[in-house]
Amino acid sequence: MLNYQLSLDFALKEDQKDELSTYRNQFHIPKDKYGKDLIYMTGNSLGLQPKTTKKYIHQELEDWANLGVEGHTNAKNPWLKYHEFLTESMANIVGAKPIEVIIMNTLTVNLHLMMVSFYKPTAKRYKILIEADAFPSDKYAVESQLRHHGFNDKDGLILWKARQGEELANYEDLEAIFKAHGNEIALVMIGGVNYYTGQYFDMKRITNLGHKYGCMVGFDCAHGAGNVELNLHDSGADFAVWCTYKYLNSGPGSLAGCFVHERHANNKDLNRFTGWWSHNKETRFRMRDEFDQLPGAEGWQLSNPPILSMAAIKASLDMFQEVGIKKIVEKSKKLTGYFEFLLKQLGEDSIRIITPSNPKERGCQLSIQVKNADKSLHHKLTKAGIISDWREPEVIRCAPVPLYNSFQDVYHLVNKLKAILNE
Ligand SMILES: *Cc1c(COP(=O)(O)O)cnc(C)c1O
Repeated sequence: MLNYQLSLDFALKEDQKDELSTYRNQFHIPKDKYGKDLIYMTGNSLGLQPKTTKKYIHQELEDWANLGVEGHTNAKNPWLKYHEFLTESMANIVGAKPIEVIIMNTLTVNLHLMMVSFYKPTAKRYKILIEADAFPSDKYAVESQLRHHGFNDKDGLILWKARQGEELANYEDLEAIFKAHGNEIALVMIGGVNYYTGQYFDMKRITNLGHKYGCMVGFDCAHGAGNVELNLHDSGADFAVWCTYKYLNSGPGSLAGCFVHERHANNKDLNRFTGWWSHNKETRFRMRDEFDQLPGAEGWQLSNPPILSMAAIKASLDMFQEVGIKKIVEKSKKLTGYFEFLLKQLGEDSIRIITPSNPKERGCQLSIQVKNADKSLHHKLTKAGIISDWREPEVIRCAPVPLYNSFQDVYHLVNKLKAILNE
């Protein structure tokens, strides 16, 4: 690990040495009223805009203006197969094979579509296991699936909870849950990286456990995609979903990703909802053919997709493809390690990092508990030019993103926090 030092000079030198430092200039960094860069620590909520995004979207607007419907085949990037331009780079980011990945719909929609296929409850095996502090949308989604199948959403939901007085979920407890209830659980649905604690779960371990007990296993990787090396294929998970507007910098509400493991690529026994975009591309436009399922994740598409949003995704993925997720994660570990070092050096008893200290069990986000703090702390940080995220009752989440945050950002963040705590 790096030999971190306290001085600003150390941060300056690290930024100079940083191979990825030039990428910061390829993003629009939000500014304060004096035109000074804000310290943006919320790439875990909405990633910043690459400067190329406008150009990518403009290209599609131009082709639409000049070609109308002919753009489907004659645009510079023909719209009919636009999603195919994204598949390989997205597959590289999440560690999957191209046949396992598709970009479509939005995140919670994809989660539901995956549950149509992979949540197949029976009278005896119908429960869904999730982590206790799952993202609310995920919890609402699985509860509604339980109700949809006629089950009680209280009885049907099994929560993997942290122990009393702890924040992080514990694998021994998970094993105990499976021992006690494994044959009642139809589906395991966990956030690959927990949005609140920043804990990166061992997805392979969870998948193996779930499969051992005969459950289907899926992950919501909204906080993992573009942040950690996911290795979805090797995890063996049946499915995964994620959004592209957090670490993947593709714009507010942009389309989401979906992974279906190769072993299900031609599985015609799975339930699914279909549309013309799930149908064989060769015969799609004959319109009257019997339904002919596309193999792989593409076969879960319903509609022809919004090209303008896909253009924003392409702008971002082209950058990820150029850098490679390995280099991004490498810098991320240094940057977040530095952040952790500085926070520990504060020697503040009121501060506790609830994110795991093992770099393999986290991405770039640190969740900082500030005892007895209230939201005024967050307001003060905002006033000091720091964009961070506040979670009740007393947690600040900060995510130094390796593509656009610097060591200096982290240095200034911790110093401003220190000044505010000492007020
Ligand atoms: C961000 C996030 C969501 C948001 O869902 P949308 O359908 O994109 O609005 C859902 N789940 C998790 C785990 C998230 O991190």
